[in-house]
Amino acid sequence: MYMKPIKRTYRFRLYPTTSQKDLIEKTLGCSRWVYNEFLSITKKEYEKDRNYKINKYDLIKLLPEYKDKYPYLKEVDSIALQQSVIHLYEAYRNFFRHNSDFPVFKKKKNDYGYITMNINNSIRIIGNEIQIPKIGRVKFVYHRHLPESFSYSTVAVSRIGKYYYVSLLGEEEYQEYQEYSKDNLDLANSIGLDFSLANLFVSDYKTKSNMPKYYESSLAKLASEQRKLSHMVKGSNNYNSQLLRITNLHERIANQRKDYLHKTSRYLANKYDYVFVEDLDLKEMSKRKEELKLGIFVSDLAFGTFLNQLKYKLEWLNKKLVKVDKYFPSSQLCSECGYRKTDLLLKTKSWICPNCGVKHNRDHNAAVNIKKEGMRMILNPSN
Ligand SMILES: [Zn+2]
Repeated sequence: MYMKPIKRTYRFRLYPTTSQKDLIEKTLGCSRWVYNEFLSITKKEYEKDRNYKINKYDLIKLLPEYKDKYPYLKEVDSIALQQSVIHLYEAYRNFFRHNSDFPVFKKKKNDYGYITMNINNSIRIIGNEIQIPKIGRVKFVYHRHLPESFSYSTVAVSRIGKYYYVSLLGEEEYQEYQEYSKDNLDLANSIGLDFSLANLFVSDYKTKSNMPKYYESSLAKLASEQRKLSHMVKGSNNYNSQLLRITNLHERIANQRKDYLHKTSRYLANKYDYVFVEDLDLKEMSKRKEELKLGIFVSDLAFGTFLNQLKYKLEWLNKKLVKVDKYFPSSQLCSECGYRKTDLLLKTKSWICPNCGVKHNRDHNAAVNIKKEGMRMILNPSN
């Protein structure tokens, strides 16, 4: 059976030695420098001639000249420098095709990375170390083994706050659940989800996704660190080190959240054949967030990420994520009798149906309606 290869990225935390760290930093610096240098050349040409088109290979051919002029460029991974030039070429091409603004100069930031390529196994895993061109063997946390079918050509080395990472970008075949076919899906084995600011979602089974405690405590810590920052003098040493602390904490939280979203979406995808959700308008969500002053979770588009993960995980299994029209009044309808309470306020958490007298929890009622509507769409797609 032929399985379509899917794109995957595996990211691992690196534990470089001090000298490896220096080399990574040097590579980051040189990549940025080359990007900016070539951007200024491009900019000059463009100012002379508005129809100026970049040729990728002409730019790359300039690199040896630069290396002779600036020998320190020879100390770093030459592919990283090439990739930096290609990156600029693509940014300029996008601008030229009116897809984006004119490329801007890269600034030194707390988080950035460089790209290199795996050529003839130049980047490979050896026990608890990964071989990276020029940097050598770097200790890393091999927390999950790469699948046999995974092959990667592009590799990113990055620093976020004080942490270093390596990301392997490639393709793999997904075979684990071959036995599923489109025809043996069971509509009864389905779940409806209403997205909720406090819990990510509430389902029609009244289950909530439970945010892990460590995640909650990280969020509380972040709030307190940010309060501290607000009392510091901008630009002072204290301020800068506090800023770095916050960047690191953000990174930790992002990892915890990612882990949590992956686990939750995997659980749902494994368990259910159909998952029914609202077609979320994220802009609308953040507006709602402001109204509710609750949005710790939604602030970073966790819903969007979660929906995405859920979608592809279900698709791997030939299962379905079904989105209910965003104008479907999932909160206003009584899931018992169908009465529509048009004056339901956003802040109302529970209500009693004036028609049938059933008491509703807002989120749970919405989840039931979303599931009902989703089932109707599957059984009767024409109306
Ligand atoms: Zn009712």
